[in-house]
Amino acid sequence: MKQIQDVFPLLQSPKKIFITTHHKPDGDAIGSMLGLYHYLTLRGHEVTPVSPSEVPDFLMWMPGIEAVYNYEAETKKSQEALKASDIIFCLDFNDFNRVKLMEPFLTEATQPKVLIDHHMFPKPVWDYGMSIPEKSSTCEMVYDFINLHNGNSFIDLNTAACLYTGVMTDTGSFRFPVTTASVHEMIADLKRRGLEHSKIHEEVYDSWSVNRMRFVGYMLIERMEIFPKWNTGLVTISRKDLQLFQLSTGDTEGLVNYPLSIAGIKFATLITERNDEVKLSFRSKGDFDVNKFAREHFSGGGHFNASGGRSTTTFSDTIAKFKEILSDIHPR
Ligand code: 5GP
Ligand code: MN
Repeated sequence: MKQIQDVFPLLQSPKKIFITTHHKPDGDAIGSMLGLYHYLTLRGHEVTPVSPSEVPDFLMWMPGIEAVYNYEAETKKSQEALKASDIIFCLDFNDFNRVKLMEPFLTEATQPKVLIDHHMFPKPVWDYGMSIPEKSSTCEMVYDFINLHNGNSFIDLNTAACLYTGVMTDTGSFRFPVTTASVHEMIADLKRRGLEHSKIHEEVYDSWSVNRMRFVGYMLIERMEIFPKWNTGLVTISRKDLQLFQLSTGDTEGLVNYPLSIAGIKFATLITERNDEVKLSFRSKGDFDVNKFAREHFSGGGHFNASGGRSTTTFSDTIAKFKEILSDIHPR
């Protein structure tokens, strides 16, 4: 992969640019995609942002969200934009399989492909890019990209709001160890431009449905198991649970973190039975490597302290398999 600066000459004249991110997008995925969308649009390019699946409700306030195509619902328009584009930017993922249904079309595309991402061990399928696992978020990296491109004066309030969102969500509101001095410097810069950060916290964190809030109570009582011997907490949510509480995309976001608030718990797992697969989310504190855990046992990956994976067996078999592995591999 060539370095990101090598793509700058391609951006000297107006281009058609396709931007995408991972399926089931989170704040960093949509934030980085729209932050880059606003920046490149201001620089005179024609930009199409495409999400591989539906954008969750808690991100629907974001400036520019109306420009985003949902690949699953707007497949034809998305494919046409991909075909017509001169350059493809991929944000916040490191393997083509993370765009789900779009994977074959992205793989076949012959345009230059650019990666901006902070997950470990990217697949060698991009022409240009930056992959820096030490970075807090892809939004921080888009901010770095803009500065490298000498575009700091093009950061408007829309870009600032989008980039802030992803840094905020991926750092757990600036508490995880990845929150470096550079992160705070970036936020200081955005604040000086007029960023209203508290509005963004409210939009993202204080927009729950009553059902979602009640579901947390139910989950904590009925669906959370704590294994003190293994310093681990496990939350399991079935398709029935999701239907019973009428939960929508994004409503299970953050649930994996609850066990980590219990003293002594250093590893938390959420197993969710979705329509098409059984999804696992892993979070840890300290030196327990959940990226390795996800890669080795659940066809996944991510970061050292936050990763995800999937299972092709049933929900109950997945839970049993997880517990079996856990008895062997767990934080000490
Ligand atoms: P989450 O549990 O929120 O779905 O994912 C946690 C982190 O791991 C995110 O940064 C996400 O992008 C990454 N991740 C989740 N699932 C996978 C996967 O299947 N493969 C890889 N490489 N990363 C994943
Ligand atoms: Mn991210």
